[in-house]
Amino acid sequence: MGLYMCNKTCVSIKMLKGKTALITGASRGIGKAIAIEFARNNADVIINYYNDKDEAEAAVDDVKKYGVKSMAVQADVSNFDEVKRMAAIIQKNFEKINILVNNAGIVKDRTLKKMTMQEWHAVINTNLNGVFHVTKAILPLMRDGGRIISISSIIGLYGNFGQCNYAAAKAGIIGFTKSLAKELGKKKITVNAVAPGFVKTSITKNMPLFRKKVINYMTPLKEEAEPEDIANVVAFLASDKARYVTGAVINVDGGLAF
Ligand code: NAP
Repeated sequence: MGLYMCNKTCVSIKMLKGKTALITGASRGIGKAIAIEFARNNADVIINYYNDKDEAEAAVDDVKKYGVKSMAVQADVSNFDEVKRMAAIIQKNFEKINILVNNAGIVKDRTLKKMTMQEWHAVINTNLNGVFHVTKAILPLMRDGGRIISISSIIGLYGNFGQCNYAAAKAGIIGFTKSLAKELGKKKITVNAVAPGFVKTSITKNMPLFRKKVINYMTPLKEEAEPEDIANVVAFLASDKARYVTGAVINVDGGLAF
């Protein structure tokens, strides 16, 4: 998706020109890579974050290097009141949203036997209820069609040891996506999910080396994804080129899950 250089001069390409995008959890990792890819394609980008204001402001600075409008808005996606406040701020500053990326997510891994209620609810509230909250609050700002893209996971399709909470939330996103695609098709709003495999971010940073080696061995492409590998697919789904794709779940996993 393109040629670019960004030391002092950032060259943008125009696939998302005139669009405004909200990306949840965009202060780092996959969300930040999506924000930069969108900006490189000329979209204005709102960076949602929860805790780390400095990281979020740094992401805004990186996005602005492409000559687009950007701002960081703090909100805990698991809290509907905070999400409604975020939507009001966005409406005041940007008026409309064309693209929503539900990316914010956490892990609290533990076998079911040892999993606490807090660990179960924290993951469901952020990773699944958060998608409902943000989509519900942002939908009224989406006029003349739009794009809703949610970051699921191959764990939502296939499950994983020690991740009942995470797998349930990520599988829930897939059901949500397919149902909402049926509801919003007539408004020319497409709704899709992306299911990454293992991506080099802070979520996977502390995974034991042995486990990483096993995963890479099982992955046909023999390496973990970079956040940009996910961002490229999300940018395609966000563009006009994907106008006839809806209700889809696209695996970006180096072939791990086929
Ligand atoms: P990450 O580096 O840990 O980044 C997570 C982002 O989510 C941060 O910006 C964080 O903001 C934000 N966030 C966390 N809780 C939030 C909340 N309650 N409200 C708003 N924002 C919140 O994670 P990542 O690896 O990029 O993951 C991004 C998405 O991809 C997640 O949904 C994850 O499940 C999914 N995914 C990741 C992988 C992988 O291998 N990394 C694989 C499949 C799917 P603060 O720092 O400000 O709290």
